[in-house]
Amino acid sequence: MNAKELSEKLLYRKKSVYEKADKKTVDAAFDFAKGYAAFLDAAKTEREAVYTSIKMAEEKSFRPYKMGDALKAGDKYYYNNRDKNLFLFVIGNEPIENGIRINAAHIDAPRIDLKQCPLYEEGGMSFFKTHYYGGIRKYQWVAIPLSLHGVIVKADGTRITVNIGEDEGDPVFYINDLLPHLGHETDKKPLGEAIPGEKLNVLVGSRPYDAAEGDAIKLNTMYLLNEKYGITEDDFLSAELCVVPAFKARDIGFDRALLGAYGHDDRVCAYPALTALLQEDAPTHTLMCVLADKEETGSEGNTGMKSALLPDLINQIAVALGGDPAVVRANSKCLSADVSCAYDPNFSDVFEKRNTPLLSCGVVLTKYTGSRGKSSTNDASAEYVGWLRGVMERAGVVWQAGELGKVDVGGGGTVAKYIAGHNIETVDLGVPVISMHAPFEVISKVDLYEAYLAFIAFSRD
Ligand code: MN
Ligand code: MN
Repeated sequence: MNAKELSEKLLYRKKSVYEKADKKTVDAAFDFAKGYAAFLDAAKTEREAVYTSIKMAEEKSFRPYKMGDALKAGDKYYYNNRDKNLFLFVIGNEPIENGIRINAAHIDAPRIDLKQCPLYEEGGMSFFKTHYYGGIRKYQWVAIPLSLHGVIVKADGTRITVNIGEDEGDPVFYINDLLPHLGHETDKKPLGEAIPGEKLNVLVGSRPYDAAEGDAIKLNTMYLLNEKYGITEDDFLSAELCVVPAFKARDIGFDRALLGAYGHDDRVCAYPALTALLQEDAPTHTLMCVLADKEETGSEGNTGMKSALLPDLINQIAVALGGDPAVVRANSKCLSADVSCAYDPNFSDVFEKRNTPLLSCGVVLTKYTGSRGKSSTNDASAEYVGWLRGVMERAGVVWQAGELGKVDVGGGGTVAKYIAGHNIETVDLGVPVISMHAPFEVISKVDLYEAYLAFIAFSRD
């Protein structure tokens, strides 16, 4: 055996999907990305992601599930948790005590929420005060077109859906930035301090109502909102409104192999996890797809993965099929499907190249996340990771190992530890992203497709 052959046999080397997969797979990946791009444009908030996913599920004969419903093999259900968090499941043919195969991704993304008393006027303009949601680099959110999404619930229960800035004819919104001519002092500040949170005020108007005195621009803004939505200023008190980038998903590069969009984290895992489940009709295993909310703020609250709803639903399914819930959980397996960070040569100093995911080298299996000495992580067992390696190999999925950046530089978490806490085997798997949490993030189409293939392999093995 010569050195080249021996090296192929003994040494681990990441290979790109273009090197390992055939042209048919690459073509399929580019095609799959079209459906994903449409999903991204339709689902910029967790609520919109829930509605879009339900529509897709109903087209595949999924029906709404109520706790206590009888269940049998082949049943396809979804459970809508407060319009922000969705569970979909297909009952398998094998005994439920063999466990459930769970793919869990999140559908919330970093953004800028309106405060409860948002509207004010100053300097000939009206603005919304905001409180950002999730980890953003604030300087990235100024001077870009923004759209407004969300719901307003009036005291009488009337619910108004808001979506402005996405259609061609819509106006967009904006956060002012300082001109370079007057920016010399600001330019000396660290990036994290140049744009403080209280400067993220969204420009929404500049024309006064008639010739009214005092706050006439604010009044006109409120007048227009009243005309369009029938709301008064106090209705903001019970609203969930947020601004997100108004961009659509777009191909990036001459070869169109990358996709740029707002909110790849974590729709780039949610979409393939969902579509992988929707095509299952009579699976062997019982399958579940979880689309979680609140991951970006710590998975808190009744729509986040720290809530009791996941074990509650597993218990309901177990009992309906005559299984012991504890046994079902103990035999369940989960892919915590969340993005990973791709090596970026522009910022090579924060990455440890041997253990960082590379763009277009396939879906990333992350044994542990966390930070500073593996704190706050689910560290998946060698046994579980070993089993998954076999699953991927049998299905020919192109995958790579990877962790987030250098040991002492920072870190991050996912929902994995909350699911593992229910005594469920869990490991992180997802798509590598460039410029994660930026208003416009970048992924590789072939990595997206390998994630889809990984979810199918995991469901069927
Ligand atoms: Mn994420
Ligand atoms: Mn994130």
